[in-house]
Amino acid sequence: MLKTGEQVARHLQEYFLDHAEIFPIAVQWGLNFASHRSAAARAVALAVRRNTTRMAQRFIAGATPAEALTAIRKLRRQSLAFTLDLLGEATLSEEEAATYQRRYLDLLAALATASRNWEPVELIDTDQAGPIPRVNVSLKLTALYSQFDAIDPERGAARVKERLRPLFRAATEVGAFVTIDMEQYRYKDLTLRVFKEILEEDEFQAWPQAGIVLQAYLRETEQDLRDLLTWVKARGTPIGVRLVRGAYWDYETVIARQHDWPVPVFHRKWETDINFERLVTILLEQYQLLRPAIATHNIRSIAYALAASQRLGLPERAVEFQMLYGMGDAIKAALVQLGQRLRVYAPFGELIPGMGYLVRRLLENTSNDSFLRQSFVEHAAVDELLQSPEEERLHDSGALAGDQPPSHEVFHNEPELDFAQEENRRRFQDALTSVCQQLGRTYPLMMNGEAIFTKAEIVSRNPSHPDEIVGRVARAGVAEAERSVSTAWHALPTWRATPAAARADYLFRAAAAMRDRRVELAAWEVREAGKPWREADADVCEAIDYLIYYGREMLRLAPARQLDDLAGEVNAYVYQPRGVAVVIAPWNFPLAILTGMTSAALVAGNTVIMKPAEQTSVIAAKLMEIFSSIGLPAGALSYLPGLGEEVGEHLVTHPRTNLIAFTGSLAVGLHINALVAQTVEGQRGIKKVIAELGGKNAIIVDDDADLDEAVLGTVASAFGYAGQKCSACSRVIVLEQVYELFLRRLVVAIRSLRIGPAEDPGTFVPPLIDDEARQKVRHSITVAKGEGRVVLQIQEPREGYFVGPVIVADVSPQAVIAQEEIFGPVLAVLKARSFDEALEIALGTPYALTGGLYSRSPAHIERARQDLRVGNLYINRKITGALVGRQPFGGLGLSGIGAKAGGSDYLLQFMEPRVITENTLRRGFAPRNDGDTRQ
Ligand code: NAD
Repeated sequence: MLKTGEQVARHLQEYFLDHAEIFPIAVQWGLNFASHRSAAARAVALAVRRNTTRMAQRFIAGATPAEALTAIRKLRRQSLAFTLDLLGEATLSEEEAATYQRRYLDLLAALATASRNWEPVELIDTDQAGPIPRVNVSLKLTALYSQFDAIDPERGAARVKERLRPLFRAATEVGAFVTIDMEQYRYKDLTLRVFKEILEEDEFQAWPQAGIVLQAYLRETEQDLRDLLTWVKARGTPIGVRLVRGAYWDYETVIARQHDWPVPVFHRKWETDINFERLVTILLEQYQLLRPAIATHNIRSIAYALAASQRLGLPERAVEFQMLYGMGDAIKAALVQLGQRLRVYAPFGELIPGMGYLVRRLLENTSNDSFLRQSFVEHAAVDELLQSPEEERLHDSGALAGDQPPSHEVFHNEPELDFAQEENRRRFQDALTSVCQQLGRTYPLMMNGEAIFTKAEIVSRNPSHPDEIVGRVARAGVAEAERSVSTAWHALPTWRATPAAARADYLFRAAAAMRDRRVELAAWEVREAGKPWREADADVCEAIDYLIYYGREMLRLAPARQLDDLAGEVNAYVYQPRGVAVVIAPWNFPLAILTGMTSAALVAGNTVIMKPAEQTSVIAAKLMEIFSSIGLPAGALSYLPGLGEEVGEHLVTHPRTNLIAFTGSLAVGLHINALVAQTVEGQRGIKKVIAELGGKNAIIVDDDADLDEAVLGTVASAFGYAGQKCSACSRVIVLEQVYELFLRRLVVAIRSLRIGPAEDPGTFVPPLIDDEARQKVRHSITVAKGEGRVVLQIQEPREGYFVGPVIVADVSPQAVIAQEEIFGPVLAVLKARSFDEALEIALGTPYALTGGLYSRSPAHIERARQDLRVGNLYINRKITGALVGRQPFGGLGLSGIGAKAGGSDYLLQFMEPRVITENTLRRGFAPRNDGDTRQ
């Protein structure tokens, strides 16, 4: 937030002066001043602020209800009706949701009082059937419940209806009309469901003054409209339907592409335009049940609606038009002259929180496709503006980039499930139920294709319900560890000699088998690792990604490289596997990390002994099942569950193991390193250790950060999976100018998170993995209490290994809580006086795994790129959730030794290079290296 002139001046310089060739106006504006405190800087800043405010005033109908009322009176004098929309920050907490509701209730009351003194204007106060409400508001459901998420529709619908009822009640009392706005696609079905359910309630069943928005750019809208019609007929009371094109086209396209989901919007503008007209026709045909409000500035669409209503013989004023405040005023005036009812969508509220709205409007005004731009700025010919979208279709030159199916040449991440789709939620729930019926089974260890049961067992428990035994797993001891090494040793020559392409093919087949079982595997993670739905699903996707990625990498690396083209000599650079690999994995990404390390080692030609974390041995057994099911040669992979200190250590120090791929804590990682530094009798070669270790990751929140985003990103990074990710944020370093505000919003946001068992779809903070972890985190909290101000400690549920989220503020950079990894939902908040100091604090621990920055300053972003030296740096987004191939992952400093997992250097660690040189000169005759003979 830019509060001072100095800040504004600094940002203007950073944004524009570096691009003076593109923005020569920057120099004209006088941005090339030396100091941000100078009189010149102040003057420029003042001018810019004034202009921005003026711009905002054009699109926003005032900052306060009083100003909005003035704007409304002005509109009514021009025979324009209104609907008011309260702008605000994103609703991140229940406190903010309650405030939003309160403000709407106050607004309705204020409008009702004011409206008594308004002169009647027949054109806008009546429709074909008589008087209509003069007071009209529009509201967003996401603002009424901070955890509004399609993954948990039951709770979402219930909570939103609780907040909506008083609003609808107030509207019925004062005779107002309420329209529910439509937002991003992922909220659409839930929004429609809430709208229908609440209007079916006895209290509102006969209330006709509610409406909903539908977006013509969505492929599903026609079906939604038809469903709505069927429902309205059953309900027996009409509703209003506002038809818009849709304001989130870029967002929907980008999000869908990023997730590899079907794009829900039409690609081409003419497709939306055709749909718009089709939907107009349906609405007009059903105008008595679905009272249409056609919201557009496009004169072709307006003309179409007018003509269609004539053709259908609709009475006057059966159709309403709607337009945005501050836009298309000439079209508004023309429609009023034609005797049409026109309502102006008027947002009001403070300028800064309203910025998102303002930016969307400005983009609309400048985008090439924008109708307003074409008509008023570029003066397009009337014929062109009225051109039928069908004609545009005929002239469309061909496919857009997004039309092509994804190429198989390029690696694609496995798409995560879209839980906004009912079908996916149902599948996931079914899998949870089915896994429930398989709990408590006993799993053997696997060696050379043989299932071995032992006397000793690992009992795996569900962290959400510790009485529930997920499974009993054979527990290997030293004898089994010995056997597994011997198996791997004997299998090595054959597996090593298997062509790389065949080894890669095993990985691809394992990926396919995993894909077939993806919801089942995720359900096991919910039960055994306490992973909430999305996290469990993402872990399975990551495991599939590793299989495909490393398989492809091996195909890339396998061919021998000829080093030069000199006659008489052949130099070949080839890779060979290191030998017997020991994979020791953690529990927190129980399938992905185990699969990643195991598949990399296997495809490189090593034989592998897989030692999973004790806590998630059942999931590891499922991975073994998958490898067995695809016919992986028996000796190539052993499954050896057991205790780290016992079998883990035995394998690490065994003379016949060659490579240790370890992911886990710093203490164990360093211990393993120390162990392998000692060669033991019979050992041939120095062991290679790949170790991915812990972190003490920081997010910096700059004084100009978008706080909505910064709070959301910090919450997700610090408290997702209860902070049990190596990448989790455990320190947030906030610039002092925004420190208190950020802290306040953070605290209320976290208070609104759902803490609960992992199988509950609405859970955000699940339990910790086991009792030992809980005791450790509790101890850290006790220490933390002496090191800062505890501003939040949430009571945890009784059952399960829960620890309620804790926030400790005013922590010193050297405090234990700011230095040591705490694997739980505990966040330290530190204050920095300057950006330099923030960087220094962030780098002030020996760990360097992930880090983040929320800033809008190009200069600070650049500084962070240069100086915030962590393994994975994230700018203006959460710091967890790295994707294979896209964000190869791994740390520096004490956070690890090794190349990044999911990146192009990773496989190399599992192999060693050899160079083979052959002299091909035979008595003065040198055959060409490509097989040709050269004279
Ligand atoms: P952990 O170190 O306790 O255990 C990891 C594995 O090591 C387990 O399989 C365990 O049985 C085994 N082990 C324990 N003692 C051993 C010994 N003496 N010899 C050989 N093996 C031994 O870690 P954890 O609690 O399972 O996982 C959490 C830790 O892992 C955190 O510190 C986290 O930051 C780290 N982690 C790092 C990454 C990364 O990519 N950098 C990813 C996930 C987790």
